Amino acid sequence: MYKIMTPGPTQVKENVRMARSLSCTNPDLDEDFYDFYKETCELISSLLHTRNETLILGGEGILGLEAACASLTEPGDKALVLDNGIFGKGFADFVTMYGGIPTLYTVDDKNPIDPAGLEAYLKEHHDFKYATLVHCDTPSGMLNPVDLLCPLLKKYGILTVVDSVSAMFGQEMRVDDYQIDLLCGGSQKAVSAPPGLTFVTLSQDAKEAMDRRKTPIASFYANLKVFDNYYENKWFPYTMPISDIYGLRAAFDNIFRDKDMPERHRRIGKACRETIAAAGLSLHLNSGFSNTVTVFDVPIGTSARDILDTMKKEHGIILAGSFDTLAGAVIRIGHMGENANFPDMYETMKALERTLLSLRVPMKVALGKTFTERYMEADKGL
Ligand SMILES: *Cc1c(COP(=O)(O)O)cnc(C)c1O
Repeated sequence: MYKIMTPGPTQVKENVRMARSLSCTNPDLDEDFYDFYKETCELISSLLHTRNETLILGGEGILGLEAACASLTEPGDKALVLDNGIFGKGFADFVTMYGGIPTLYTVDDKNPIDPAGLEAYLKEHHDFKYATLVHCDTPSGMLNPVDLLCPLLKKYGILTVVDSVSAMFGQEMRVDDYQIDLLCGGSQKAVSAPPGLTFVTLSQDAKEAMDRRKTPIASFYANLKVFDNYYENKWFPYTMPISDIYGLRAAFDNIFRDKDMPERHRRIGKACRETIAAAGLSLHLNSGFSNTVTVFDVPIGTSARDILDTMKKEHGIILAGSFDTLAGAVIRIGHMGENANFPDMYETMKALERTLLSLRVPMKVALGKTFTERYMEADKGL
């Protein structure tokens, strides 16, 4: 058994695993399950600070992103794709797949998207049906200020699709305050349930845009409208994965009881970054660090493969490399959800210290000791 310290999937608590083994009913025919599903959706909405409806879809995080794009896009529709990372850029594929025309707004990938820069761009170019944004672009750990960017886009009448799969609950997320039309989340990141479910919140504007379509949505599984009136009609579009949803509910009950999740993530994230920097290792980003994941460049003279293999084989801890343009270039420590606790992070930093020393990477401080010090300081709000 490895200790999972990756930016998703994350560690899963015992009560979540137990909930997945509860006895099952027929989720199509047992009316109580419609109440359970709806109450779980309402709990998610309240934890995301929104009056918008939430739908849980039977599929992994990517399904939420695809469903948002599929349900909004009609052939020829224009979408603005905000890109300062791999997931950001990736949205263009979903727009294209459903006949839309993406315009990439590509900016520096070492800093968050600047609201002033976007505002200047929007003054000249705002003929878009919707825009796509990524809250935390996980391959680089980039946190974008969706709280400022989405209201700007809405000012120009542009609907917003936000991927907060790897940020929500580790970072503050207030859907109504940020004016997000479609927010996408996943079970396997800070929520800390196993992979397999995604959920989407839908604003009134988003629903109206879907209702106004002249062409049908070119999907069934990625069509958010197939859930219309499911509760009144006691009819799900497809049989719901009941055990996955029992587990998800337990994970959200945990979050409901855990009142200082963002604060705990702030403290862990800050201490982790400060430790990496103090050791003379190179944080991958210049600014915009998400408190859910820390990303550093692979030190010269070694390789991502060497570091990850040693961590796994010698210390029983799985960290992540990255992919696409960052393949082999960085190491990622995922400290979101159940991973975001001092004992696991201390063990990880200590193991990373031993791993890097064994690979002859020079370091200015001992990672385990410095992490402990910085973590204690972060408590005092320093
Ligand atoms: C994890 C994640 C998803 C879901 O995708 P998988 O890589 O298939 O798990 C979507 N968006 C972001 C930003 C993610 O971090």
